[in-house]
Amino acid sequence: MTLSPSKEGHSVSAQIVWAAVVLAICLAAVAIFSVSWAMGRIDDRALGEQRQTIEAALFEARARLAADQAATTVTPDEVAIETDELDRRLTTALGHDRAYILAPDGKVLRASVDGRYAGKIFTLADSFVLQPIIDRLRLRIARAAFDDPSLRSADAAGILALRTVGFADSGQGFVSIRPMDSLGDGSTSNPTDDHLLISIKLIDQTMLQDIGKQFGIANIRRVAHPNSAVWLPILNREGDILTYLAWTPSKPAQALLGEAAPALAVLLLMVGLAMAALLVWLRRTSLTMEASRAHATYFALHDPLTGLANRALFETRLKEAKDYEFLAETKVLLISVDIDRFKEINDSWGHAAGDQLLREVAKRLMIEMPEEATVARLGGDEFAIIHPGILSEGQARWICQRLIQSIRTPLTVGSDRVDVTLSLGAALEKGNEVTPEEILRRADVALYAAKLAGRDGFALYNPEMDREKRERRTLEVELRNALLTGDGLHLVYQPIYASQNGRIAGAEALIRWMHPTRGLLSPDHFIALAEECDIIDTLGEWVLREACRFAVSSDLPRIAVNVSPIQFQNARLAERILAILAETGLTPDRLEVEITEGVLLQNSSQTQETLGTLRQAGVSVALDDFGTGYASISYLRSYAVDKLKIDKSYSQLVDADPVVGHIVRLIVETARALGMSVTAEGVENRGQRRKLTSMGCTYLQGYLFARPLVPDDMRDALSRDSRDGTDQKFG
Ligand code: C2E
Ligand code: CA
Ligand code: CA
Repeated sequence: MTLSPSKEGHSVSAQIVWAAVVLAICLAAVAIFSVSWAMGRIDDRALGEQRQTIEAALFEARARLAADQAATTVTPDEVAIETDELDRRLTTALGHDRAYILAPDGKVLRASVDGRYAGKIFTLADSFVLQPIIDRLRLRIARAAFDDPSLRSADAAGILALRTVGFADSGQGFVSIRPMDSLGDGSTSNPTDDHLLISIKLIDQTMLQDIGKQFGIANIRRVAHPNSAVWLPILNREGDILTYLAWTPSKPAQALLGEAAPALAVLLLMVGLAMAALLVWLRRTSLTMEASRAHATYFALHDPLTGLANRALFETRLKEAKDYEFLAETKVLLISVDIDRFKEINDSWGHAAGDQLLREVAKRLMIEMPEEATVARLGGDEFAIIHPGILSEGQARWICQRLIQSIRTPLTVGSDRVDVTLSLGAALEKGNEVTPEEILRRADVALYAAKLAGRDGFALYNPEMDREKRERRTLEVELRNALLTGDGLHLVYQPIYASQNGRIAGAEALIRWMHPTRGLLSPDHFIALAEECDIIDTLGEWVLREACRFAVSSDLPRIAVNVSPIQFQNARLAERILAILAETGLTPDRLEVEITEGVLLQNSSQTQETLGTLRQAGVSVALDDFGTGYASISYLRSYAVDKLKIDKSYSQLVDADPVVGHIVRLIVETARALGMSVTAEGVENRGQRRKLTSMGCTYLQGYLFARPLVPDDMRDALSRDSRDGTDQKFG
């Protein structure tokens, strides 16, 4: 009983949006990661380059120390003079920090510190560090001299010591020791007699600042411990770490990012906004798409007028019904529902009202049914209900009864109240034993039986009904045969009397069928069947021809013939009637056609035209069974009929029920005001006759005066009438 589109759609759209959000976050994460990774790489590389630069600068400083030494010449005289002149030349002039000149015997001839003469000793910081290097150098020189007796100068042989060292005062620096033969007395030409020049350049703040300035590296300094990634160890020859250098790294990528930050932020904001807009759009589009898809699915499976399941969904549900799970073994109840006389209501109140009525009925059926039942509209006023899980026939009957009751409360269509009744056909079957098609067929058979039984009720299928239906089929064939051969069909005539003088004013032709096996059948047994099987046209023409022939052969003032509403659907009806009149030679003014309200309620121009043609030709028109249908008295104004036949249900209550008396009086007065004559039919006793006559009914018909008569009896009645005048019953 789904009445609203499913909610599934929303979750799908939500999923899409969530997927998009997650995707966007992932993309952003990847972008941020790769940018920061690239930045890190760039900055790392820059750091590596800075480290190499510092390394190279230190290496160059050390090399320059040695080169400066090579270019330095000192004379023995200069060494002897204790002024600062030589000291400046050996140190500050070259940018060195300390220098020593050592005699071949190892004695310090001169110490210069920061451009000043400093006596003839090593400073405390230097002596420990320098002595081993000096010793080793001397050893190398001696070895070289030993290896090559022709060697004159160690310096020329390139023997020197160049070291990076840590001093006892915890400073670090470069030491270069070079043999100098220029200071010798010239007498000896043995390199082991060479003096040594020791130059020291400290790796101090001045030096580091210079490097920093030269290469654009900020805040190079010595640190005792490396505390970040930014450091460079200073190693001695043995590979021991003397100290670390640290500096403020330049991070080009970060700097670039910092500069580009505002622009980047704007860009990101715009991208974010675009993404958000895209997401909103995506969500909207997917929602509309899903909504329209849900809509399409809904309307593919539901009746747009009532919102009930349509035939497609109904068939699916019927197939599914057999799998209904319940604690006990259950059956499927299928109910075929038909609104009684819907066509009449639809015709008289208009299609909009008809639609409203269908919706209202649909609503009531829905209310009565539980969740597991399916209420469907299969077309027109045809509804069906599938109710699985039924335990007993009693339960099924109770459900049908409730449905019928639910409609009994009058419905409101527009501002009017309409009394509606239902006919229900129910089939209660085991879903796994009977096919869905068969269940549906059985419900329809039951519905047919319910309608035959007089509508406003229900019938539960039993196999007997199939037999009855088969019998009707047989009857149909037999009726067709009878019409073809004329065997068994005949007319009887019920006289109609003028109320004023009691004389026969006409007769109504009524059909009878002498069935070969069933005996005499009244029209109630086969007119509906003829209407159903499209033989009413042939039957009607047969009756008309027969009646006209009888009338022509008698003195009957007027012959009334019943014409079924179905016959009015034939556009050539008037033409056919007039043709039969011409064929039989009956003058049109001796023919009266009796129509029912149903004909007028069809309200079609074709009906109007048919009636118009007949009346113009002189045929009179009587409205039969007046008061039983839906036509109101006011309705009569728009229809030109010559006569009203008040239904026998009124005639028979007219003297017993004062309300009916009032109604009949009203009908008669209205009819007379409109220039119509009135026949009261079904008059069975004198009381009724008196009352109806006094109320002004023009004609009377009923068992009180005569039953329908076979032609010979009718002729007798006619001759009695012309001989004796007023019927004795009028006395
Ligand atoms: P109807 O047109 O209303 O015909 C009057 C019916 O009331 C007839 O039943 C008649 O026998 C019955 N009747 C007459 N006087 C009395 C009375 O005092 N008391 C009672 N209780 N009944 C009375 P019948 O002949 O069985 O016809 C039944 C219906 O069959 C007719 O109702 C008419 O609608 C239809 N019918 C009969 N012949 C034809 C026909 O040739 N063509 C068509 N289309 N319908 C016909
Ligand atoms: Ca009639
Ligand atoms: Ca009637």
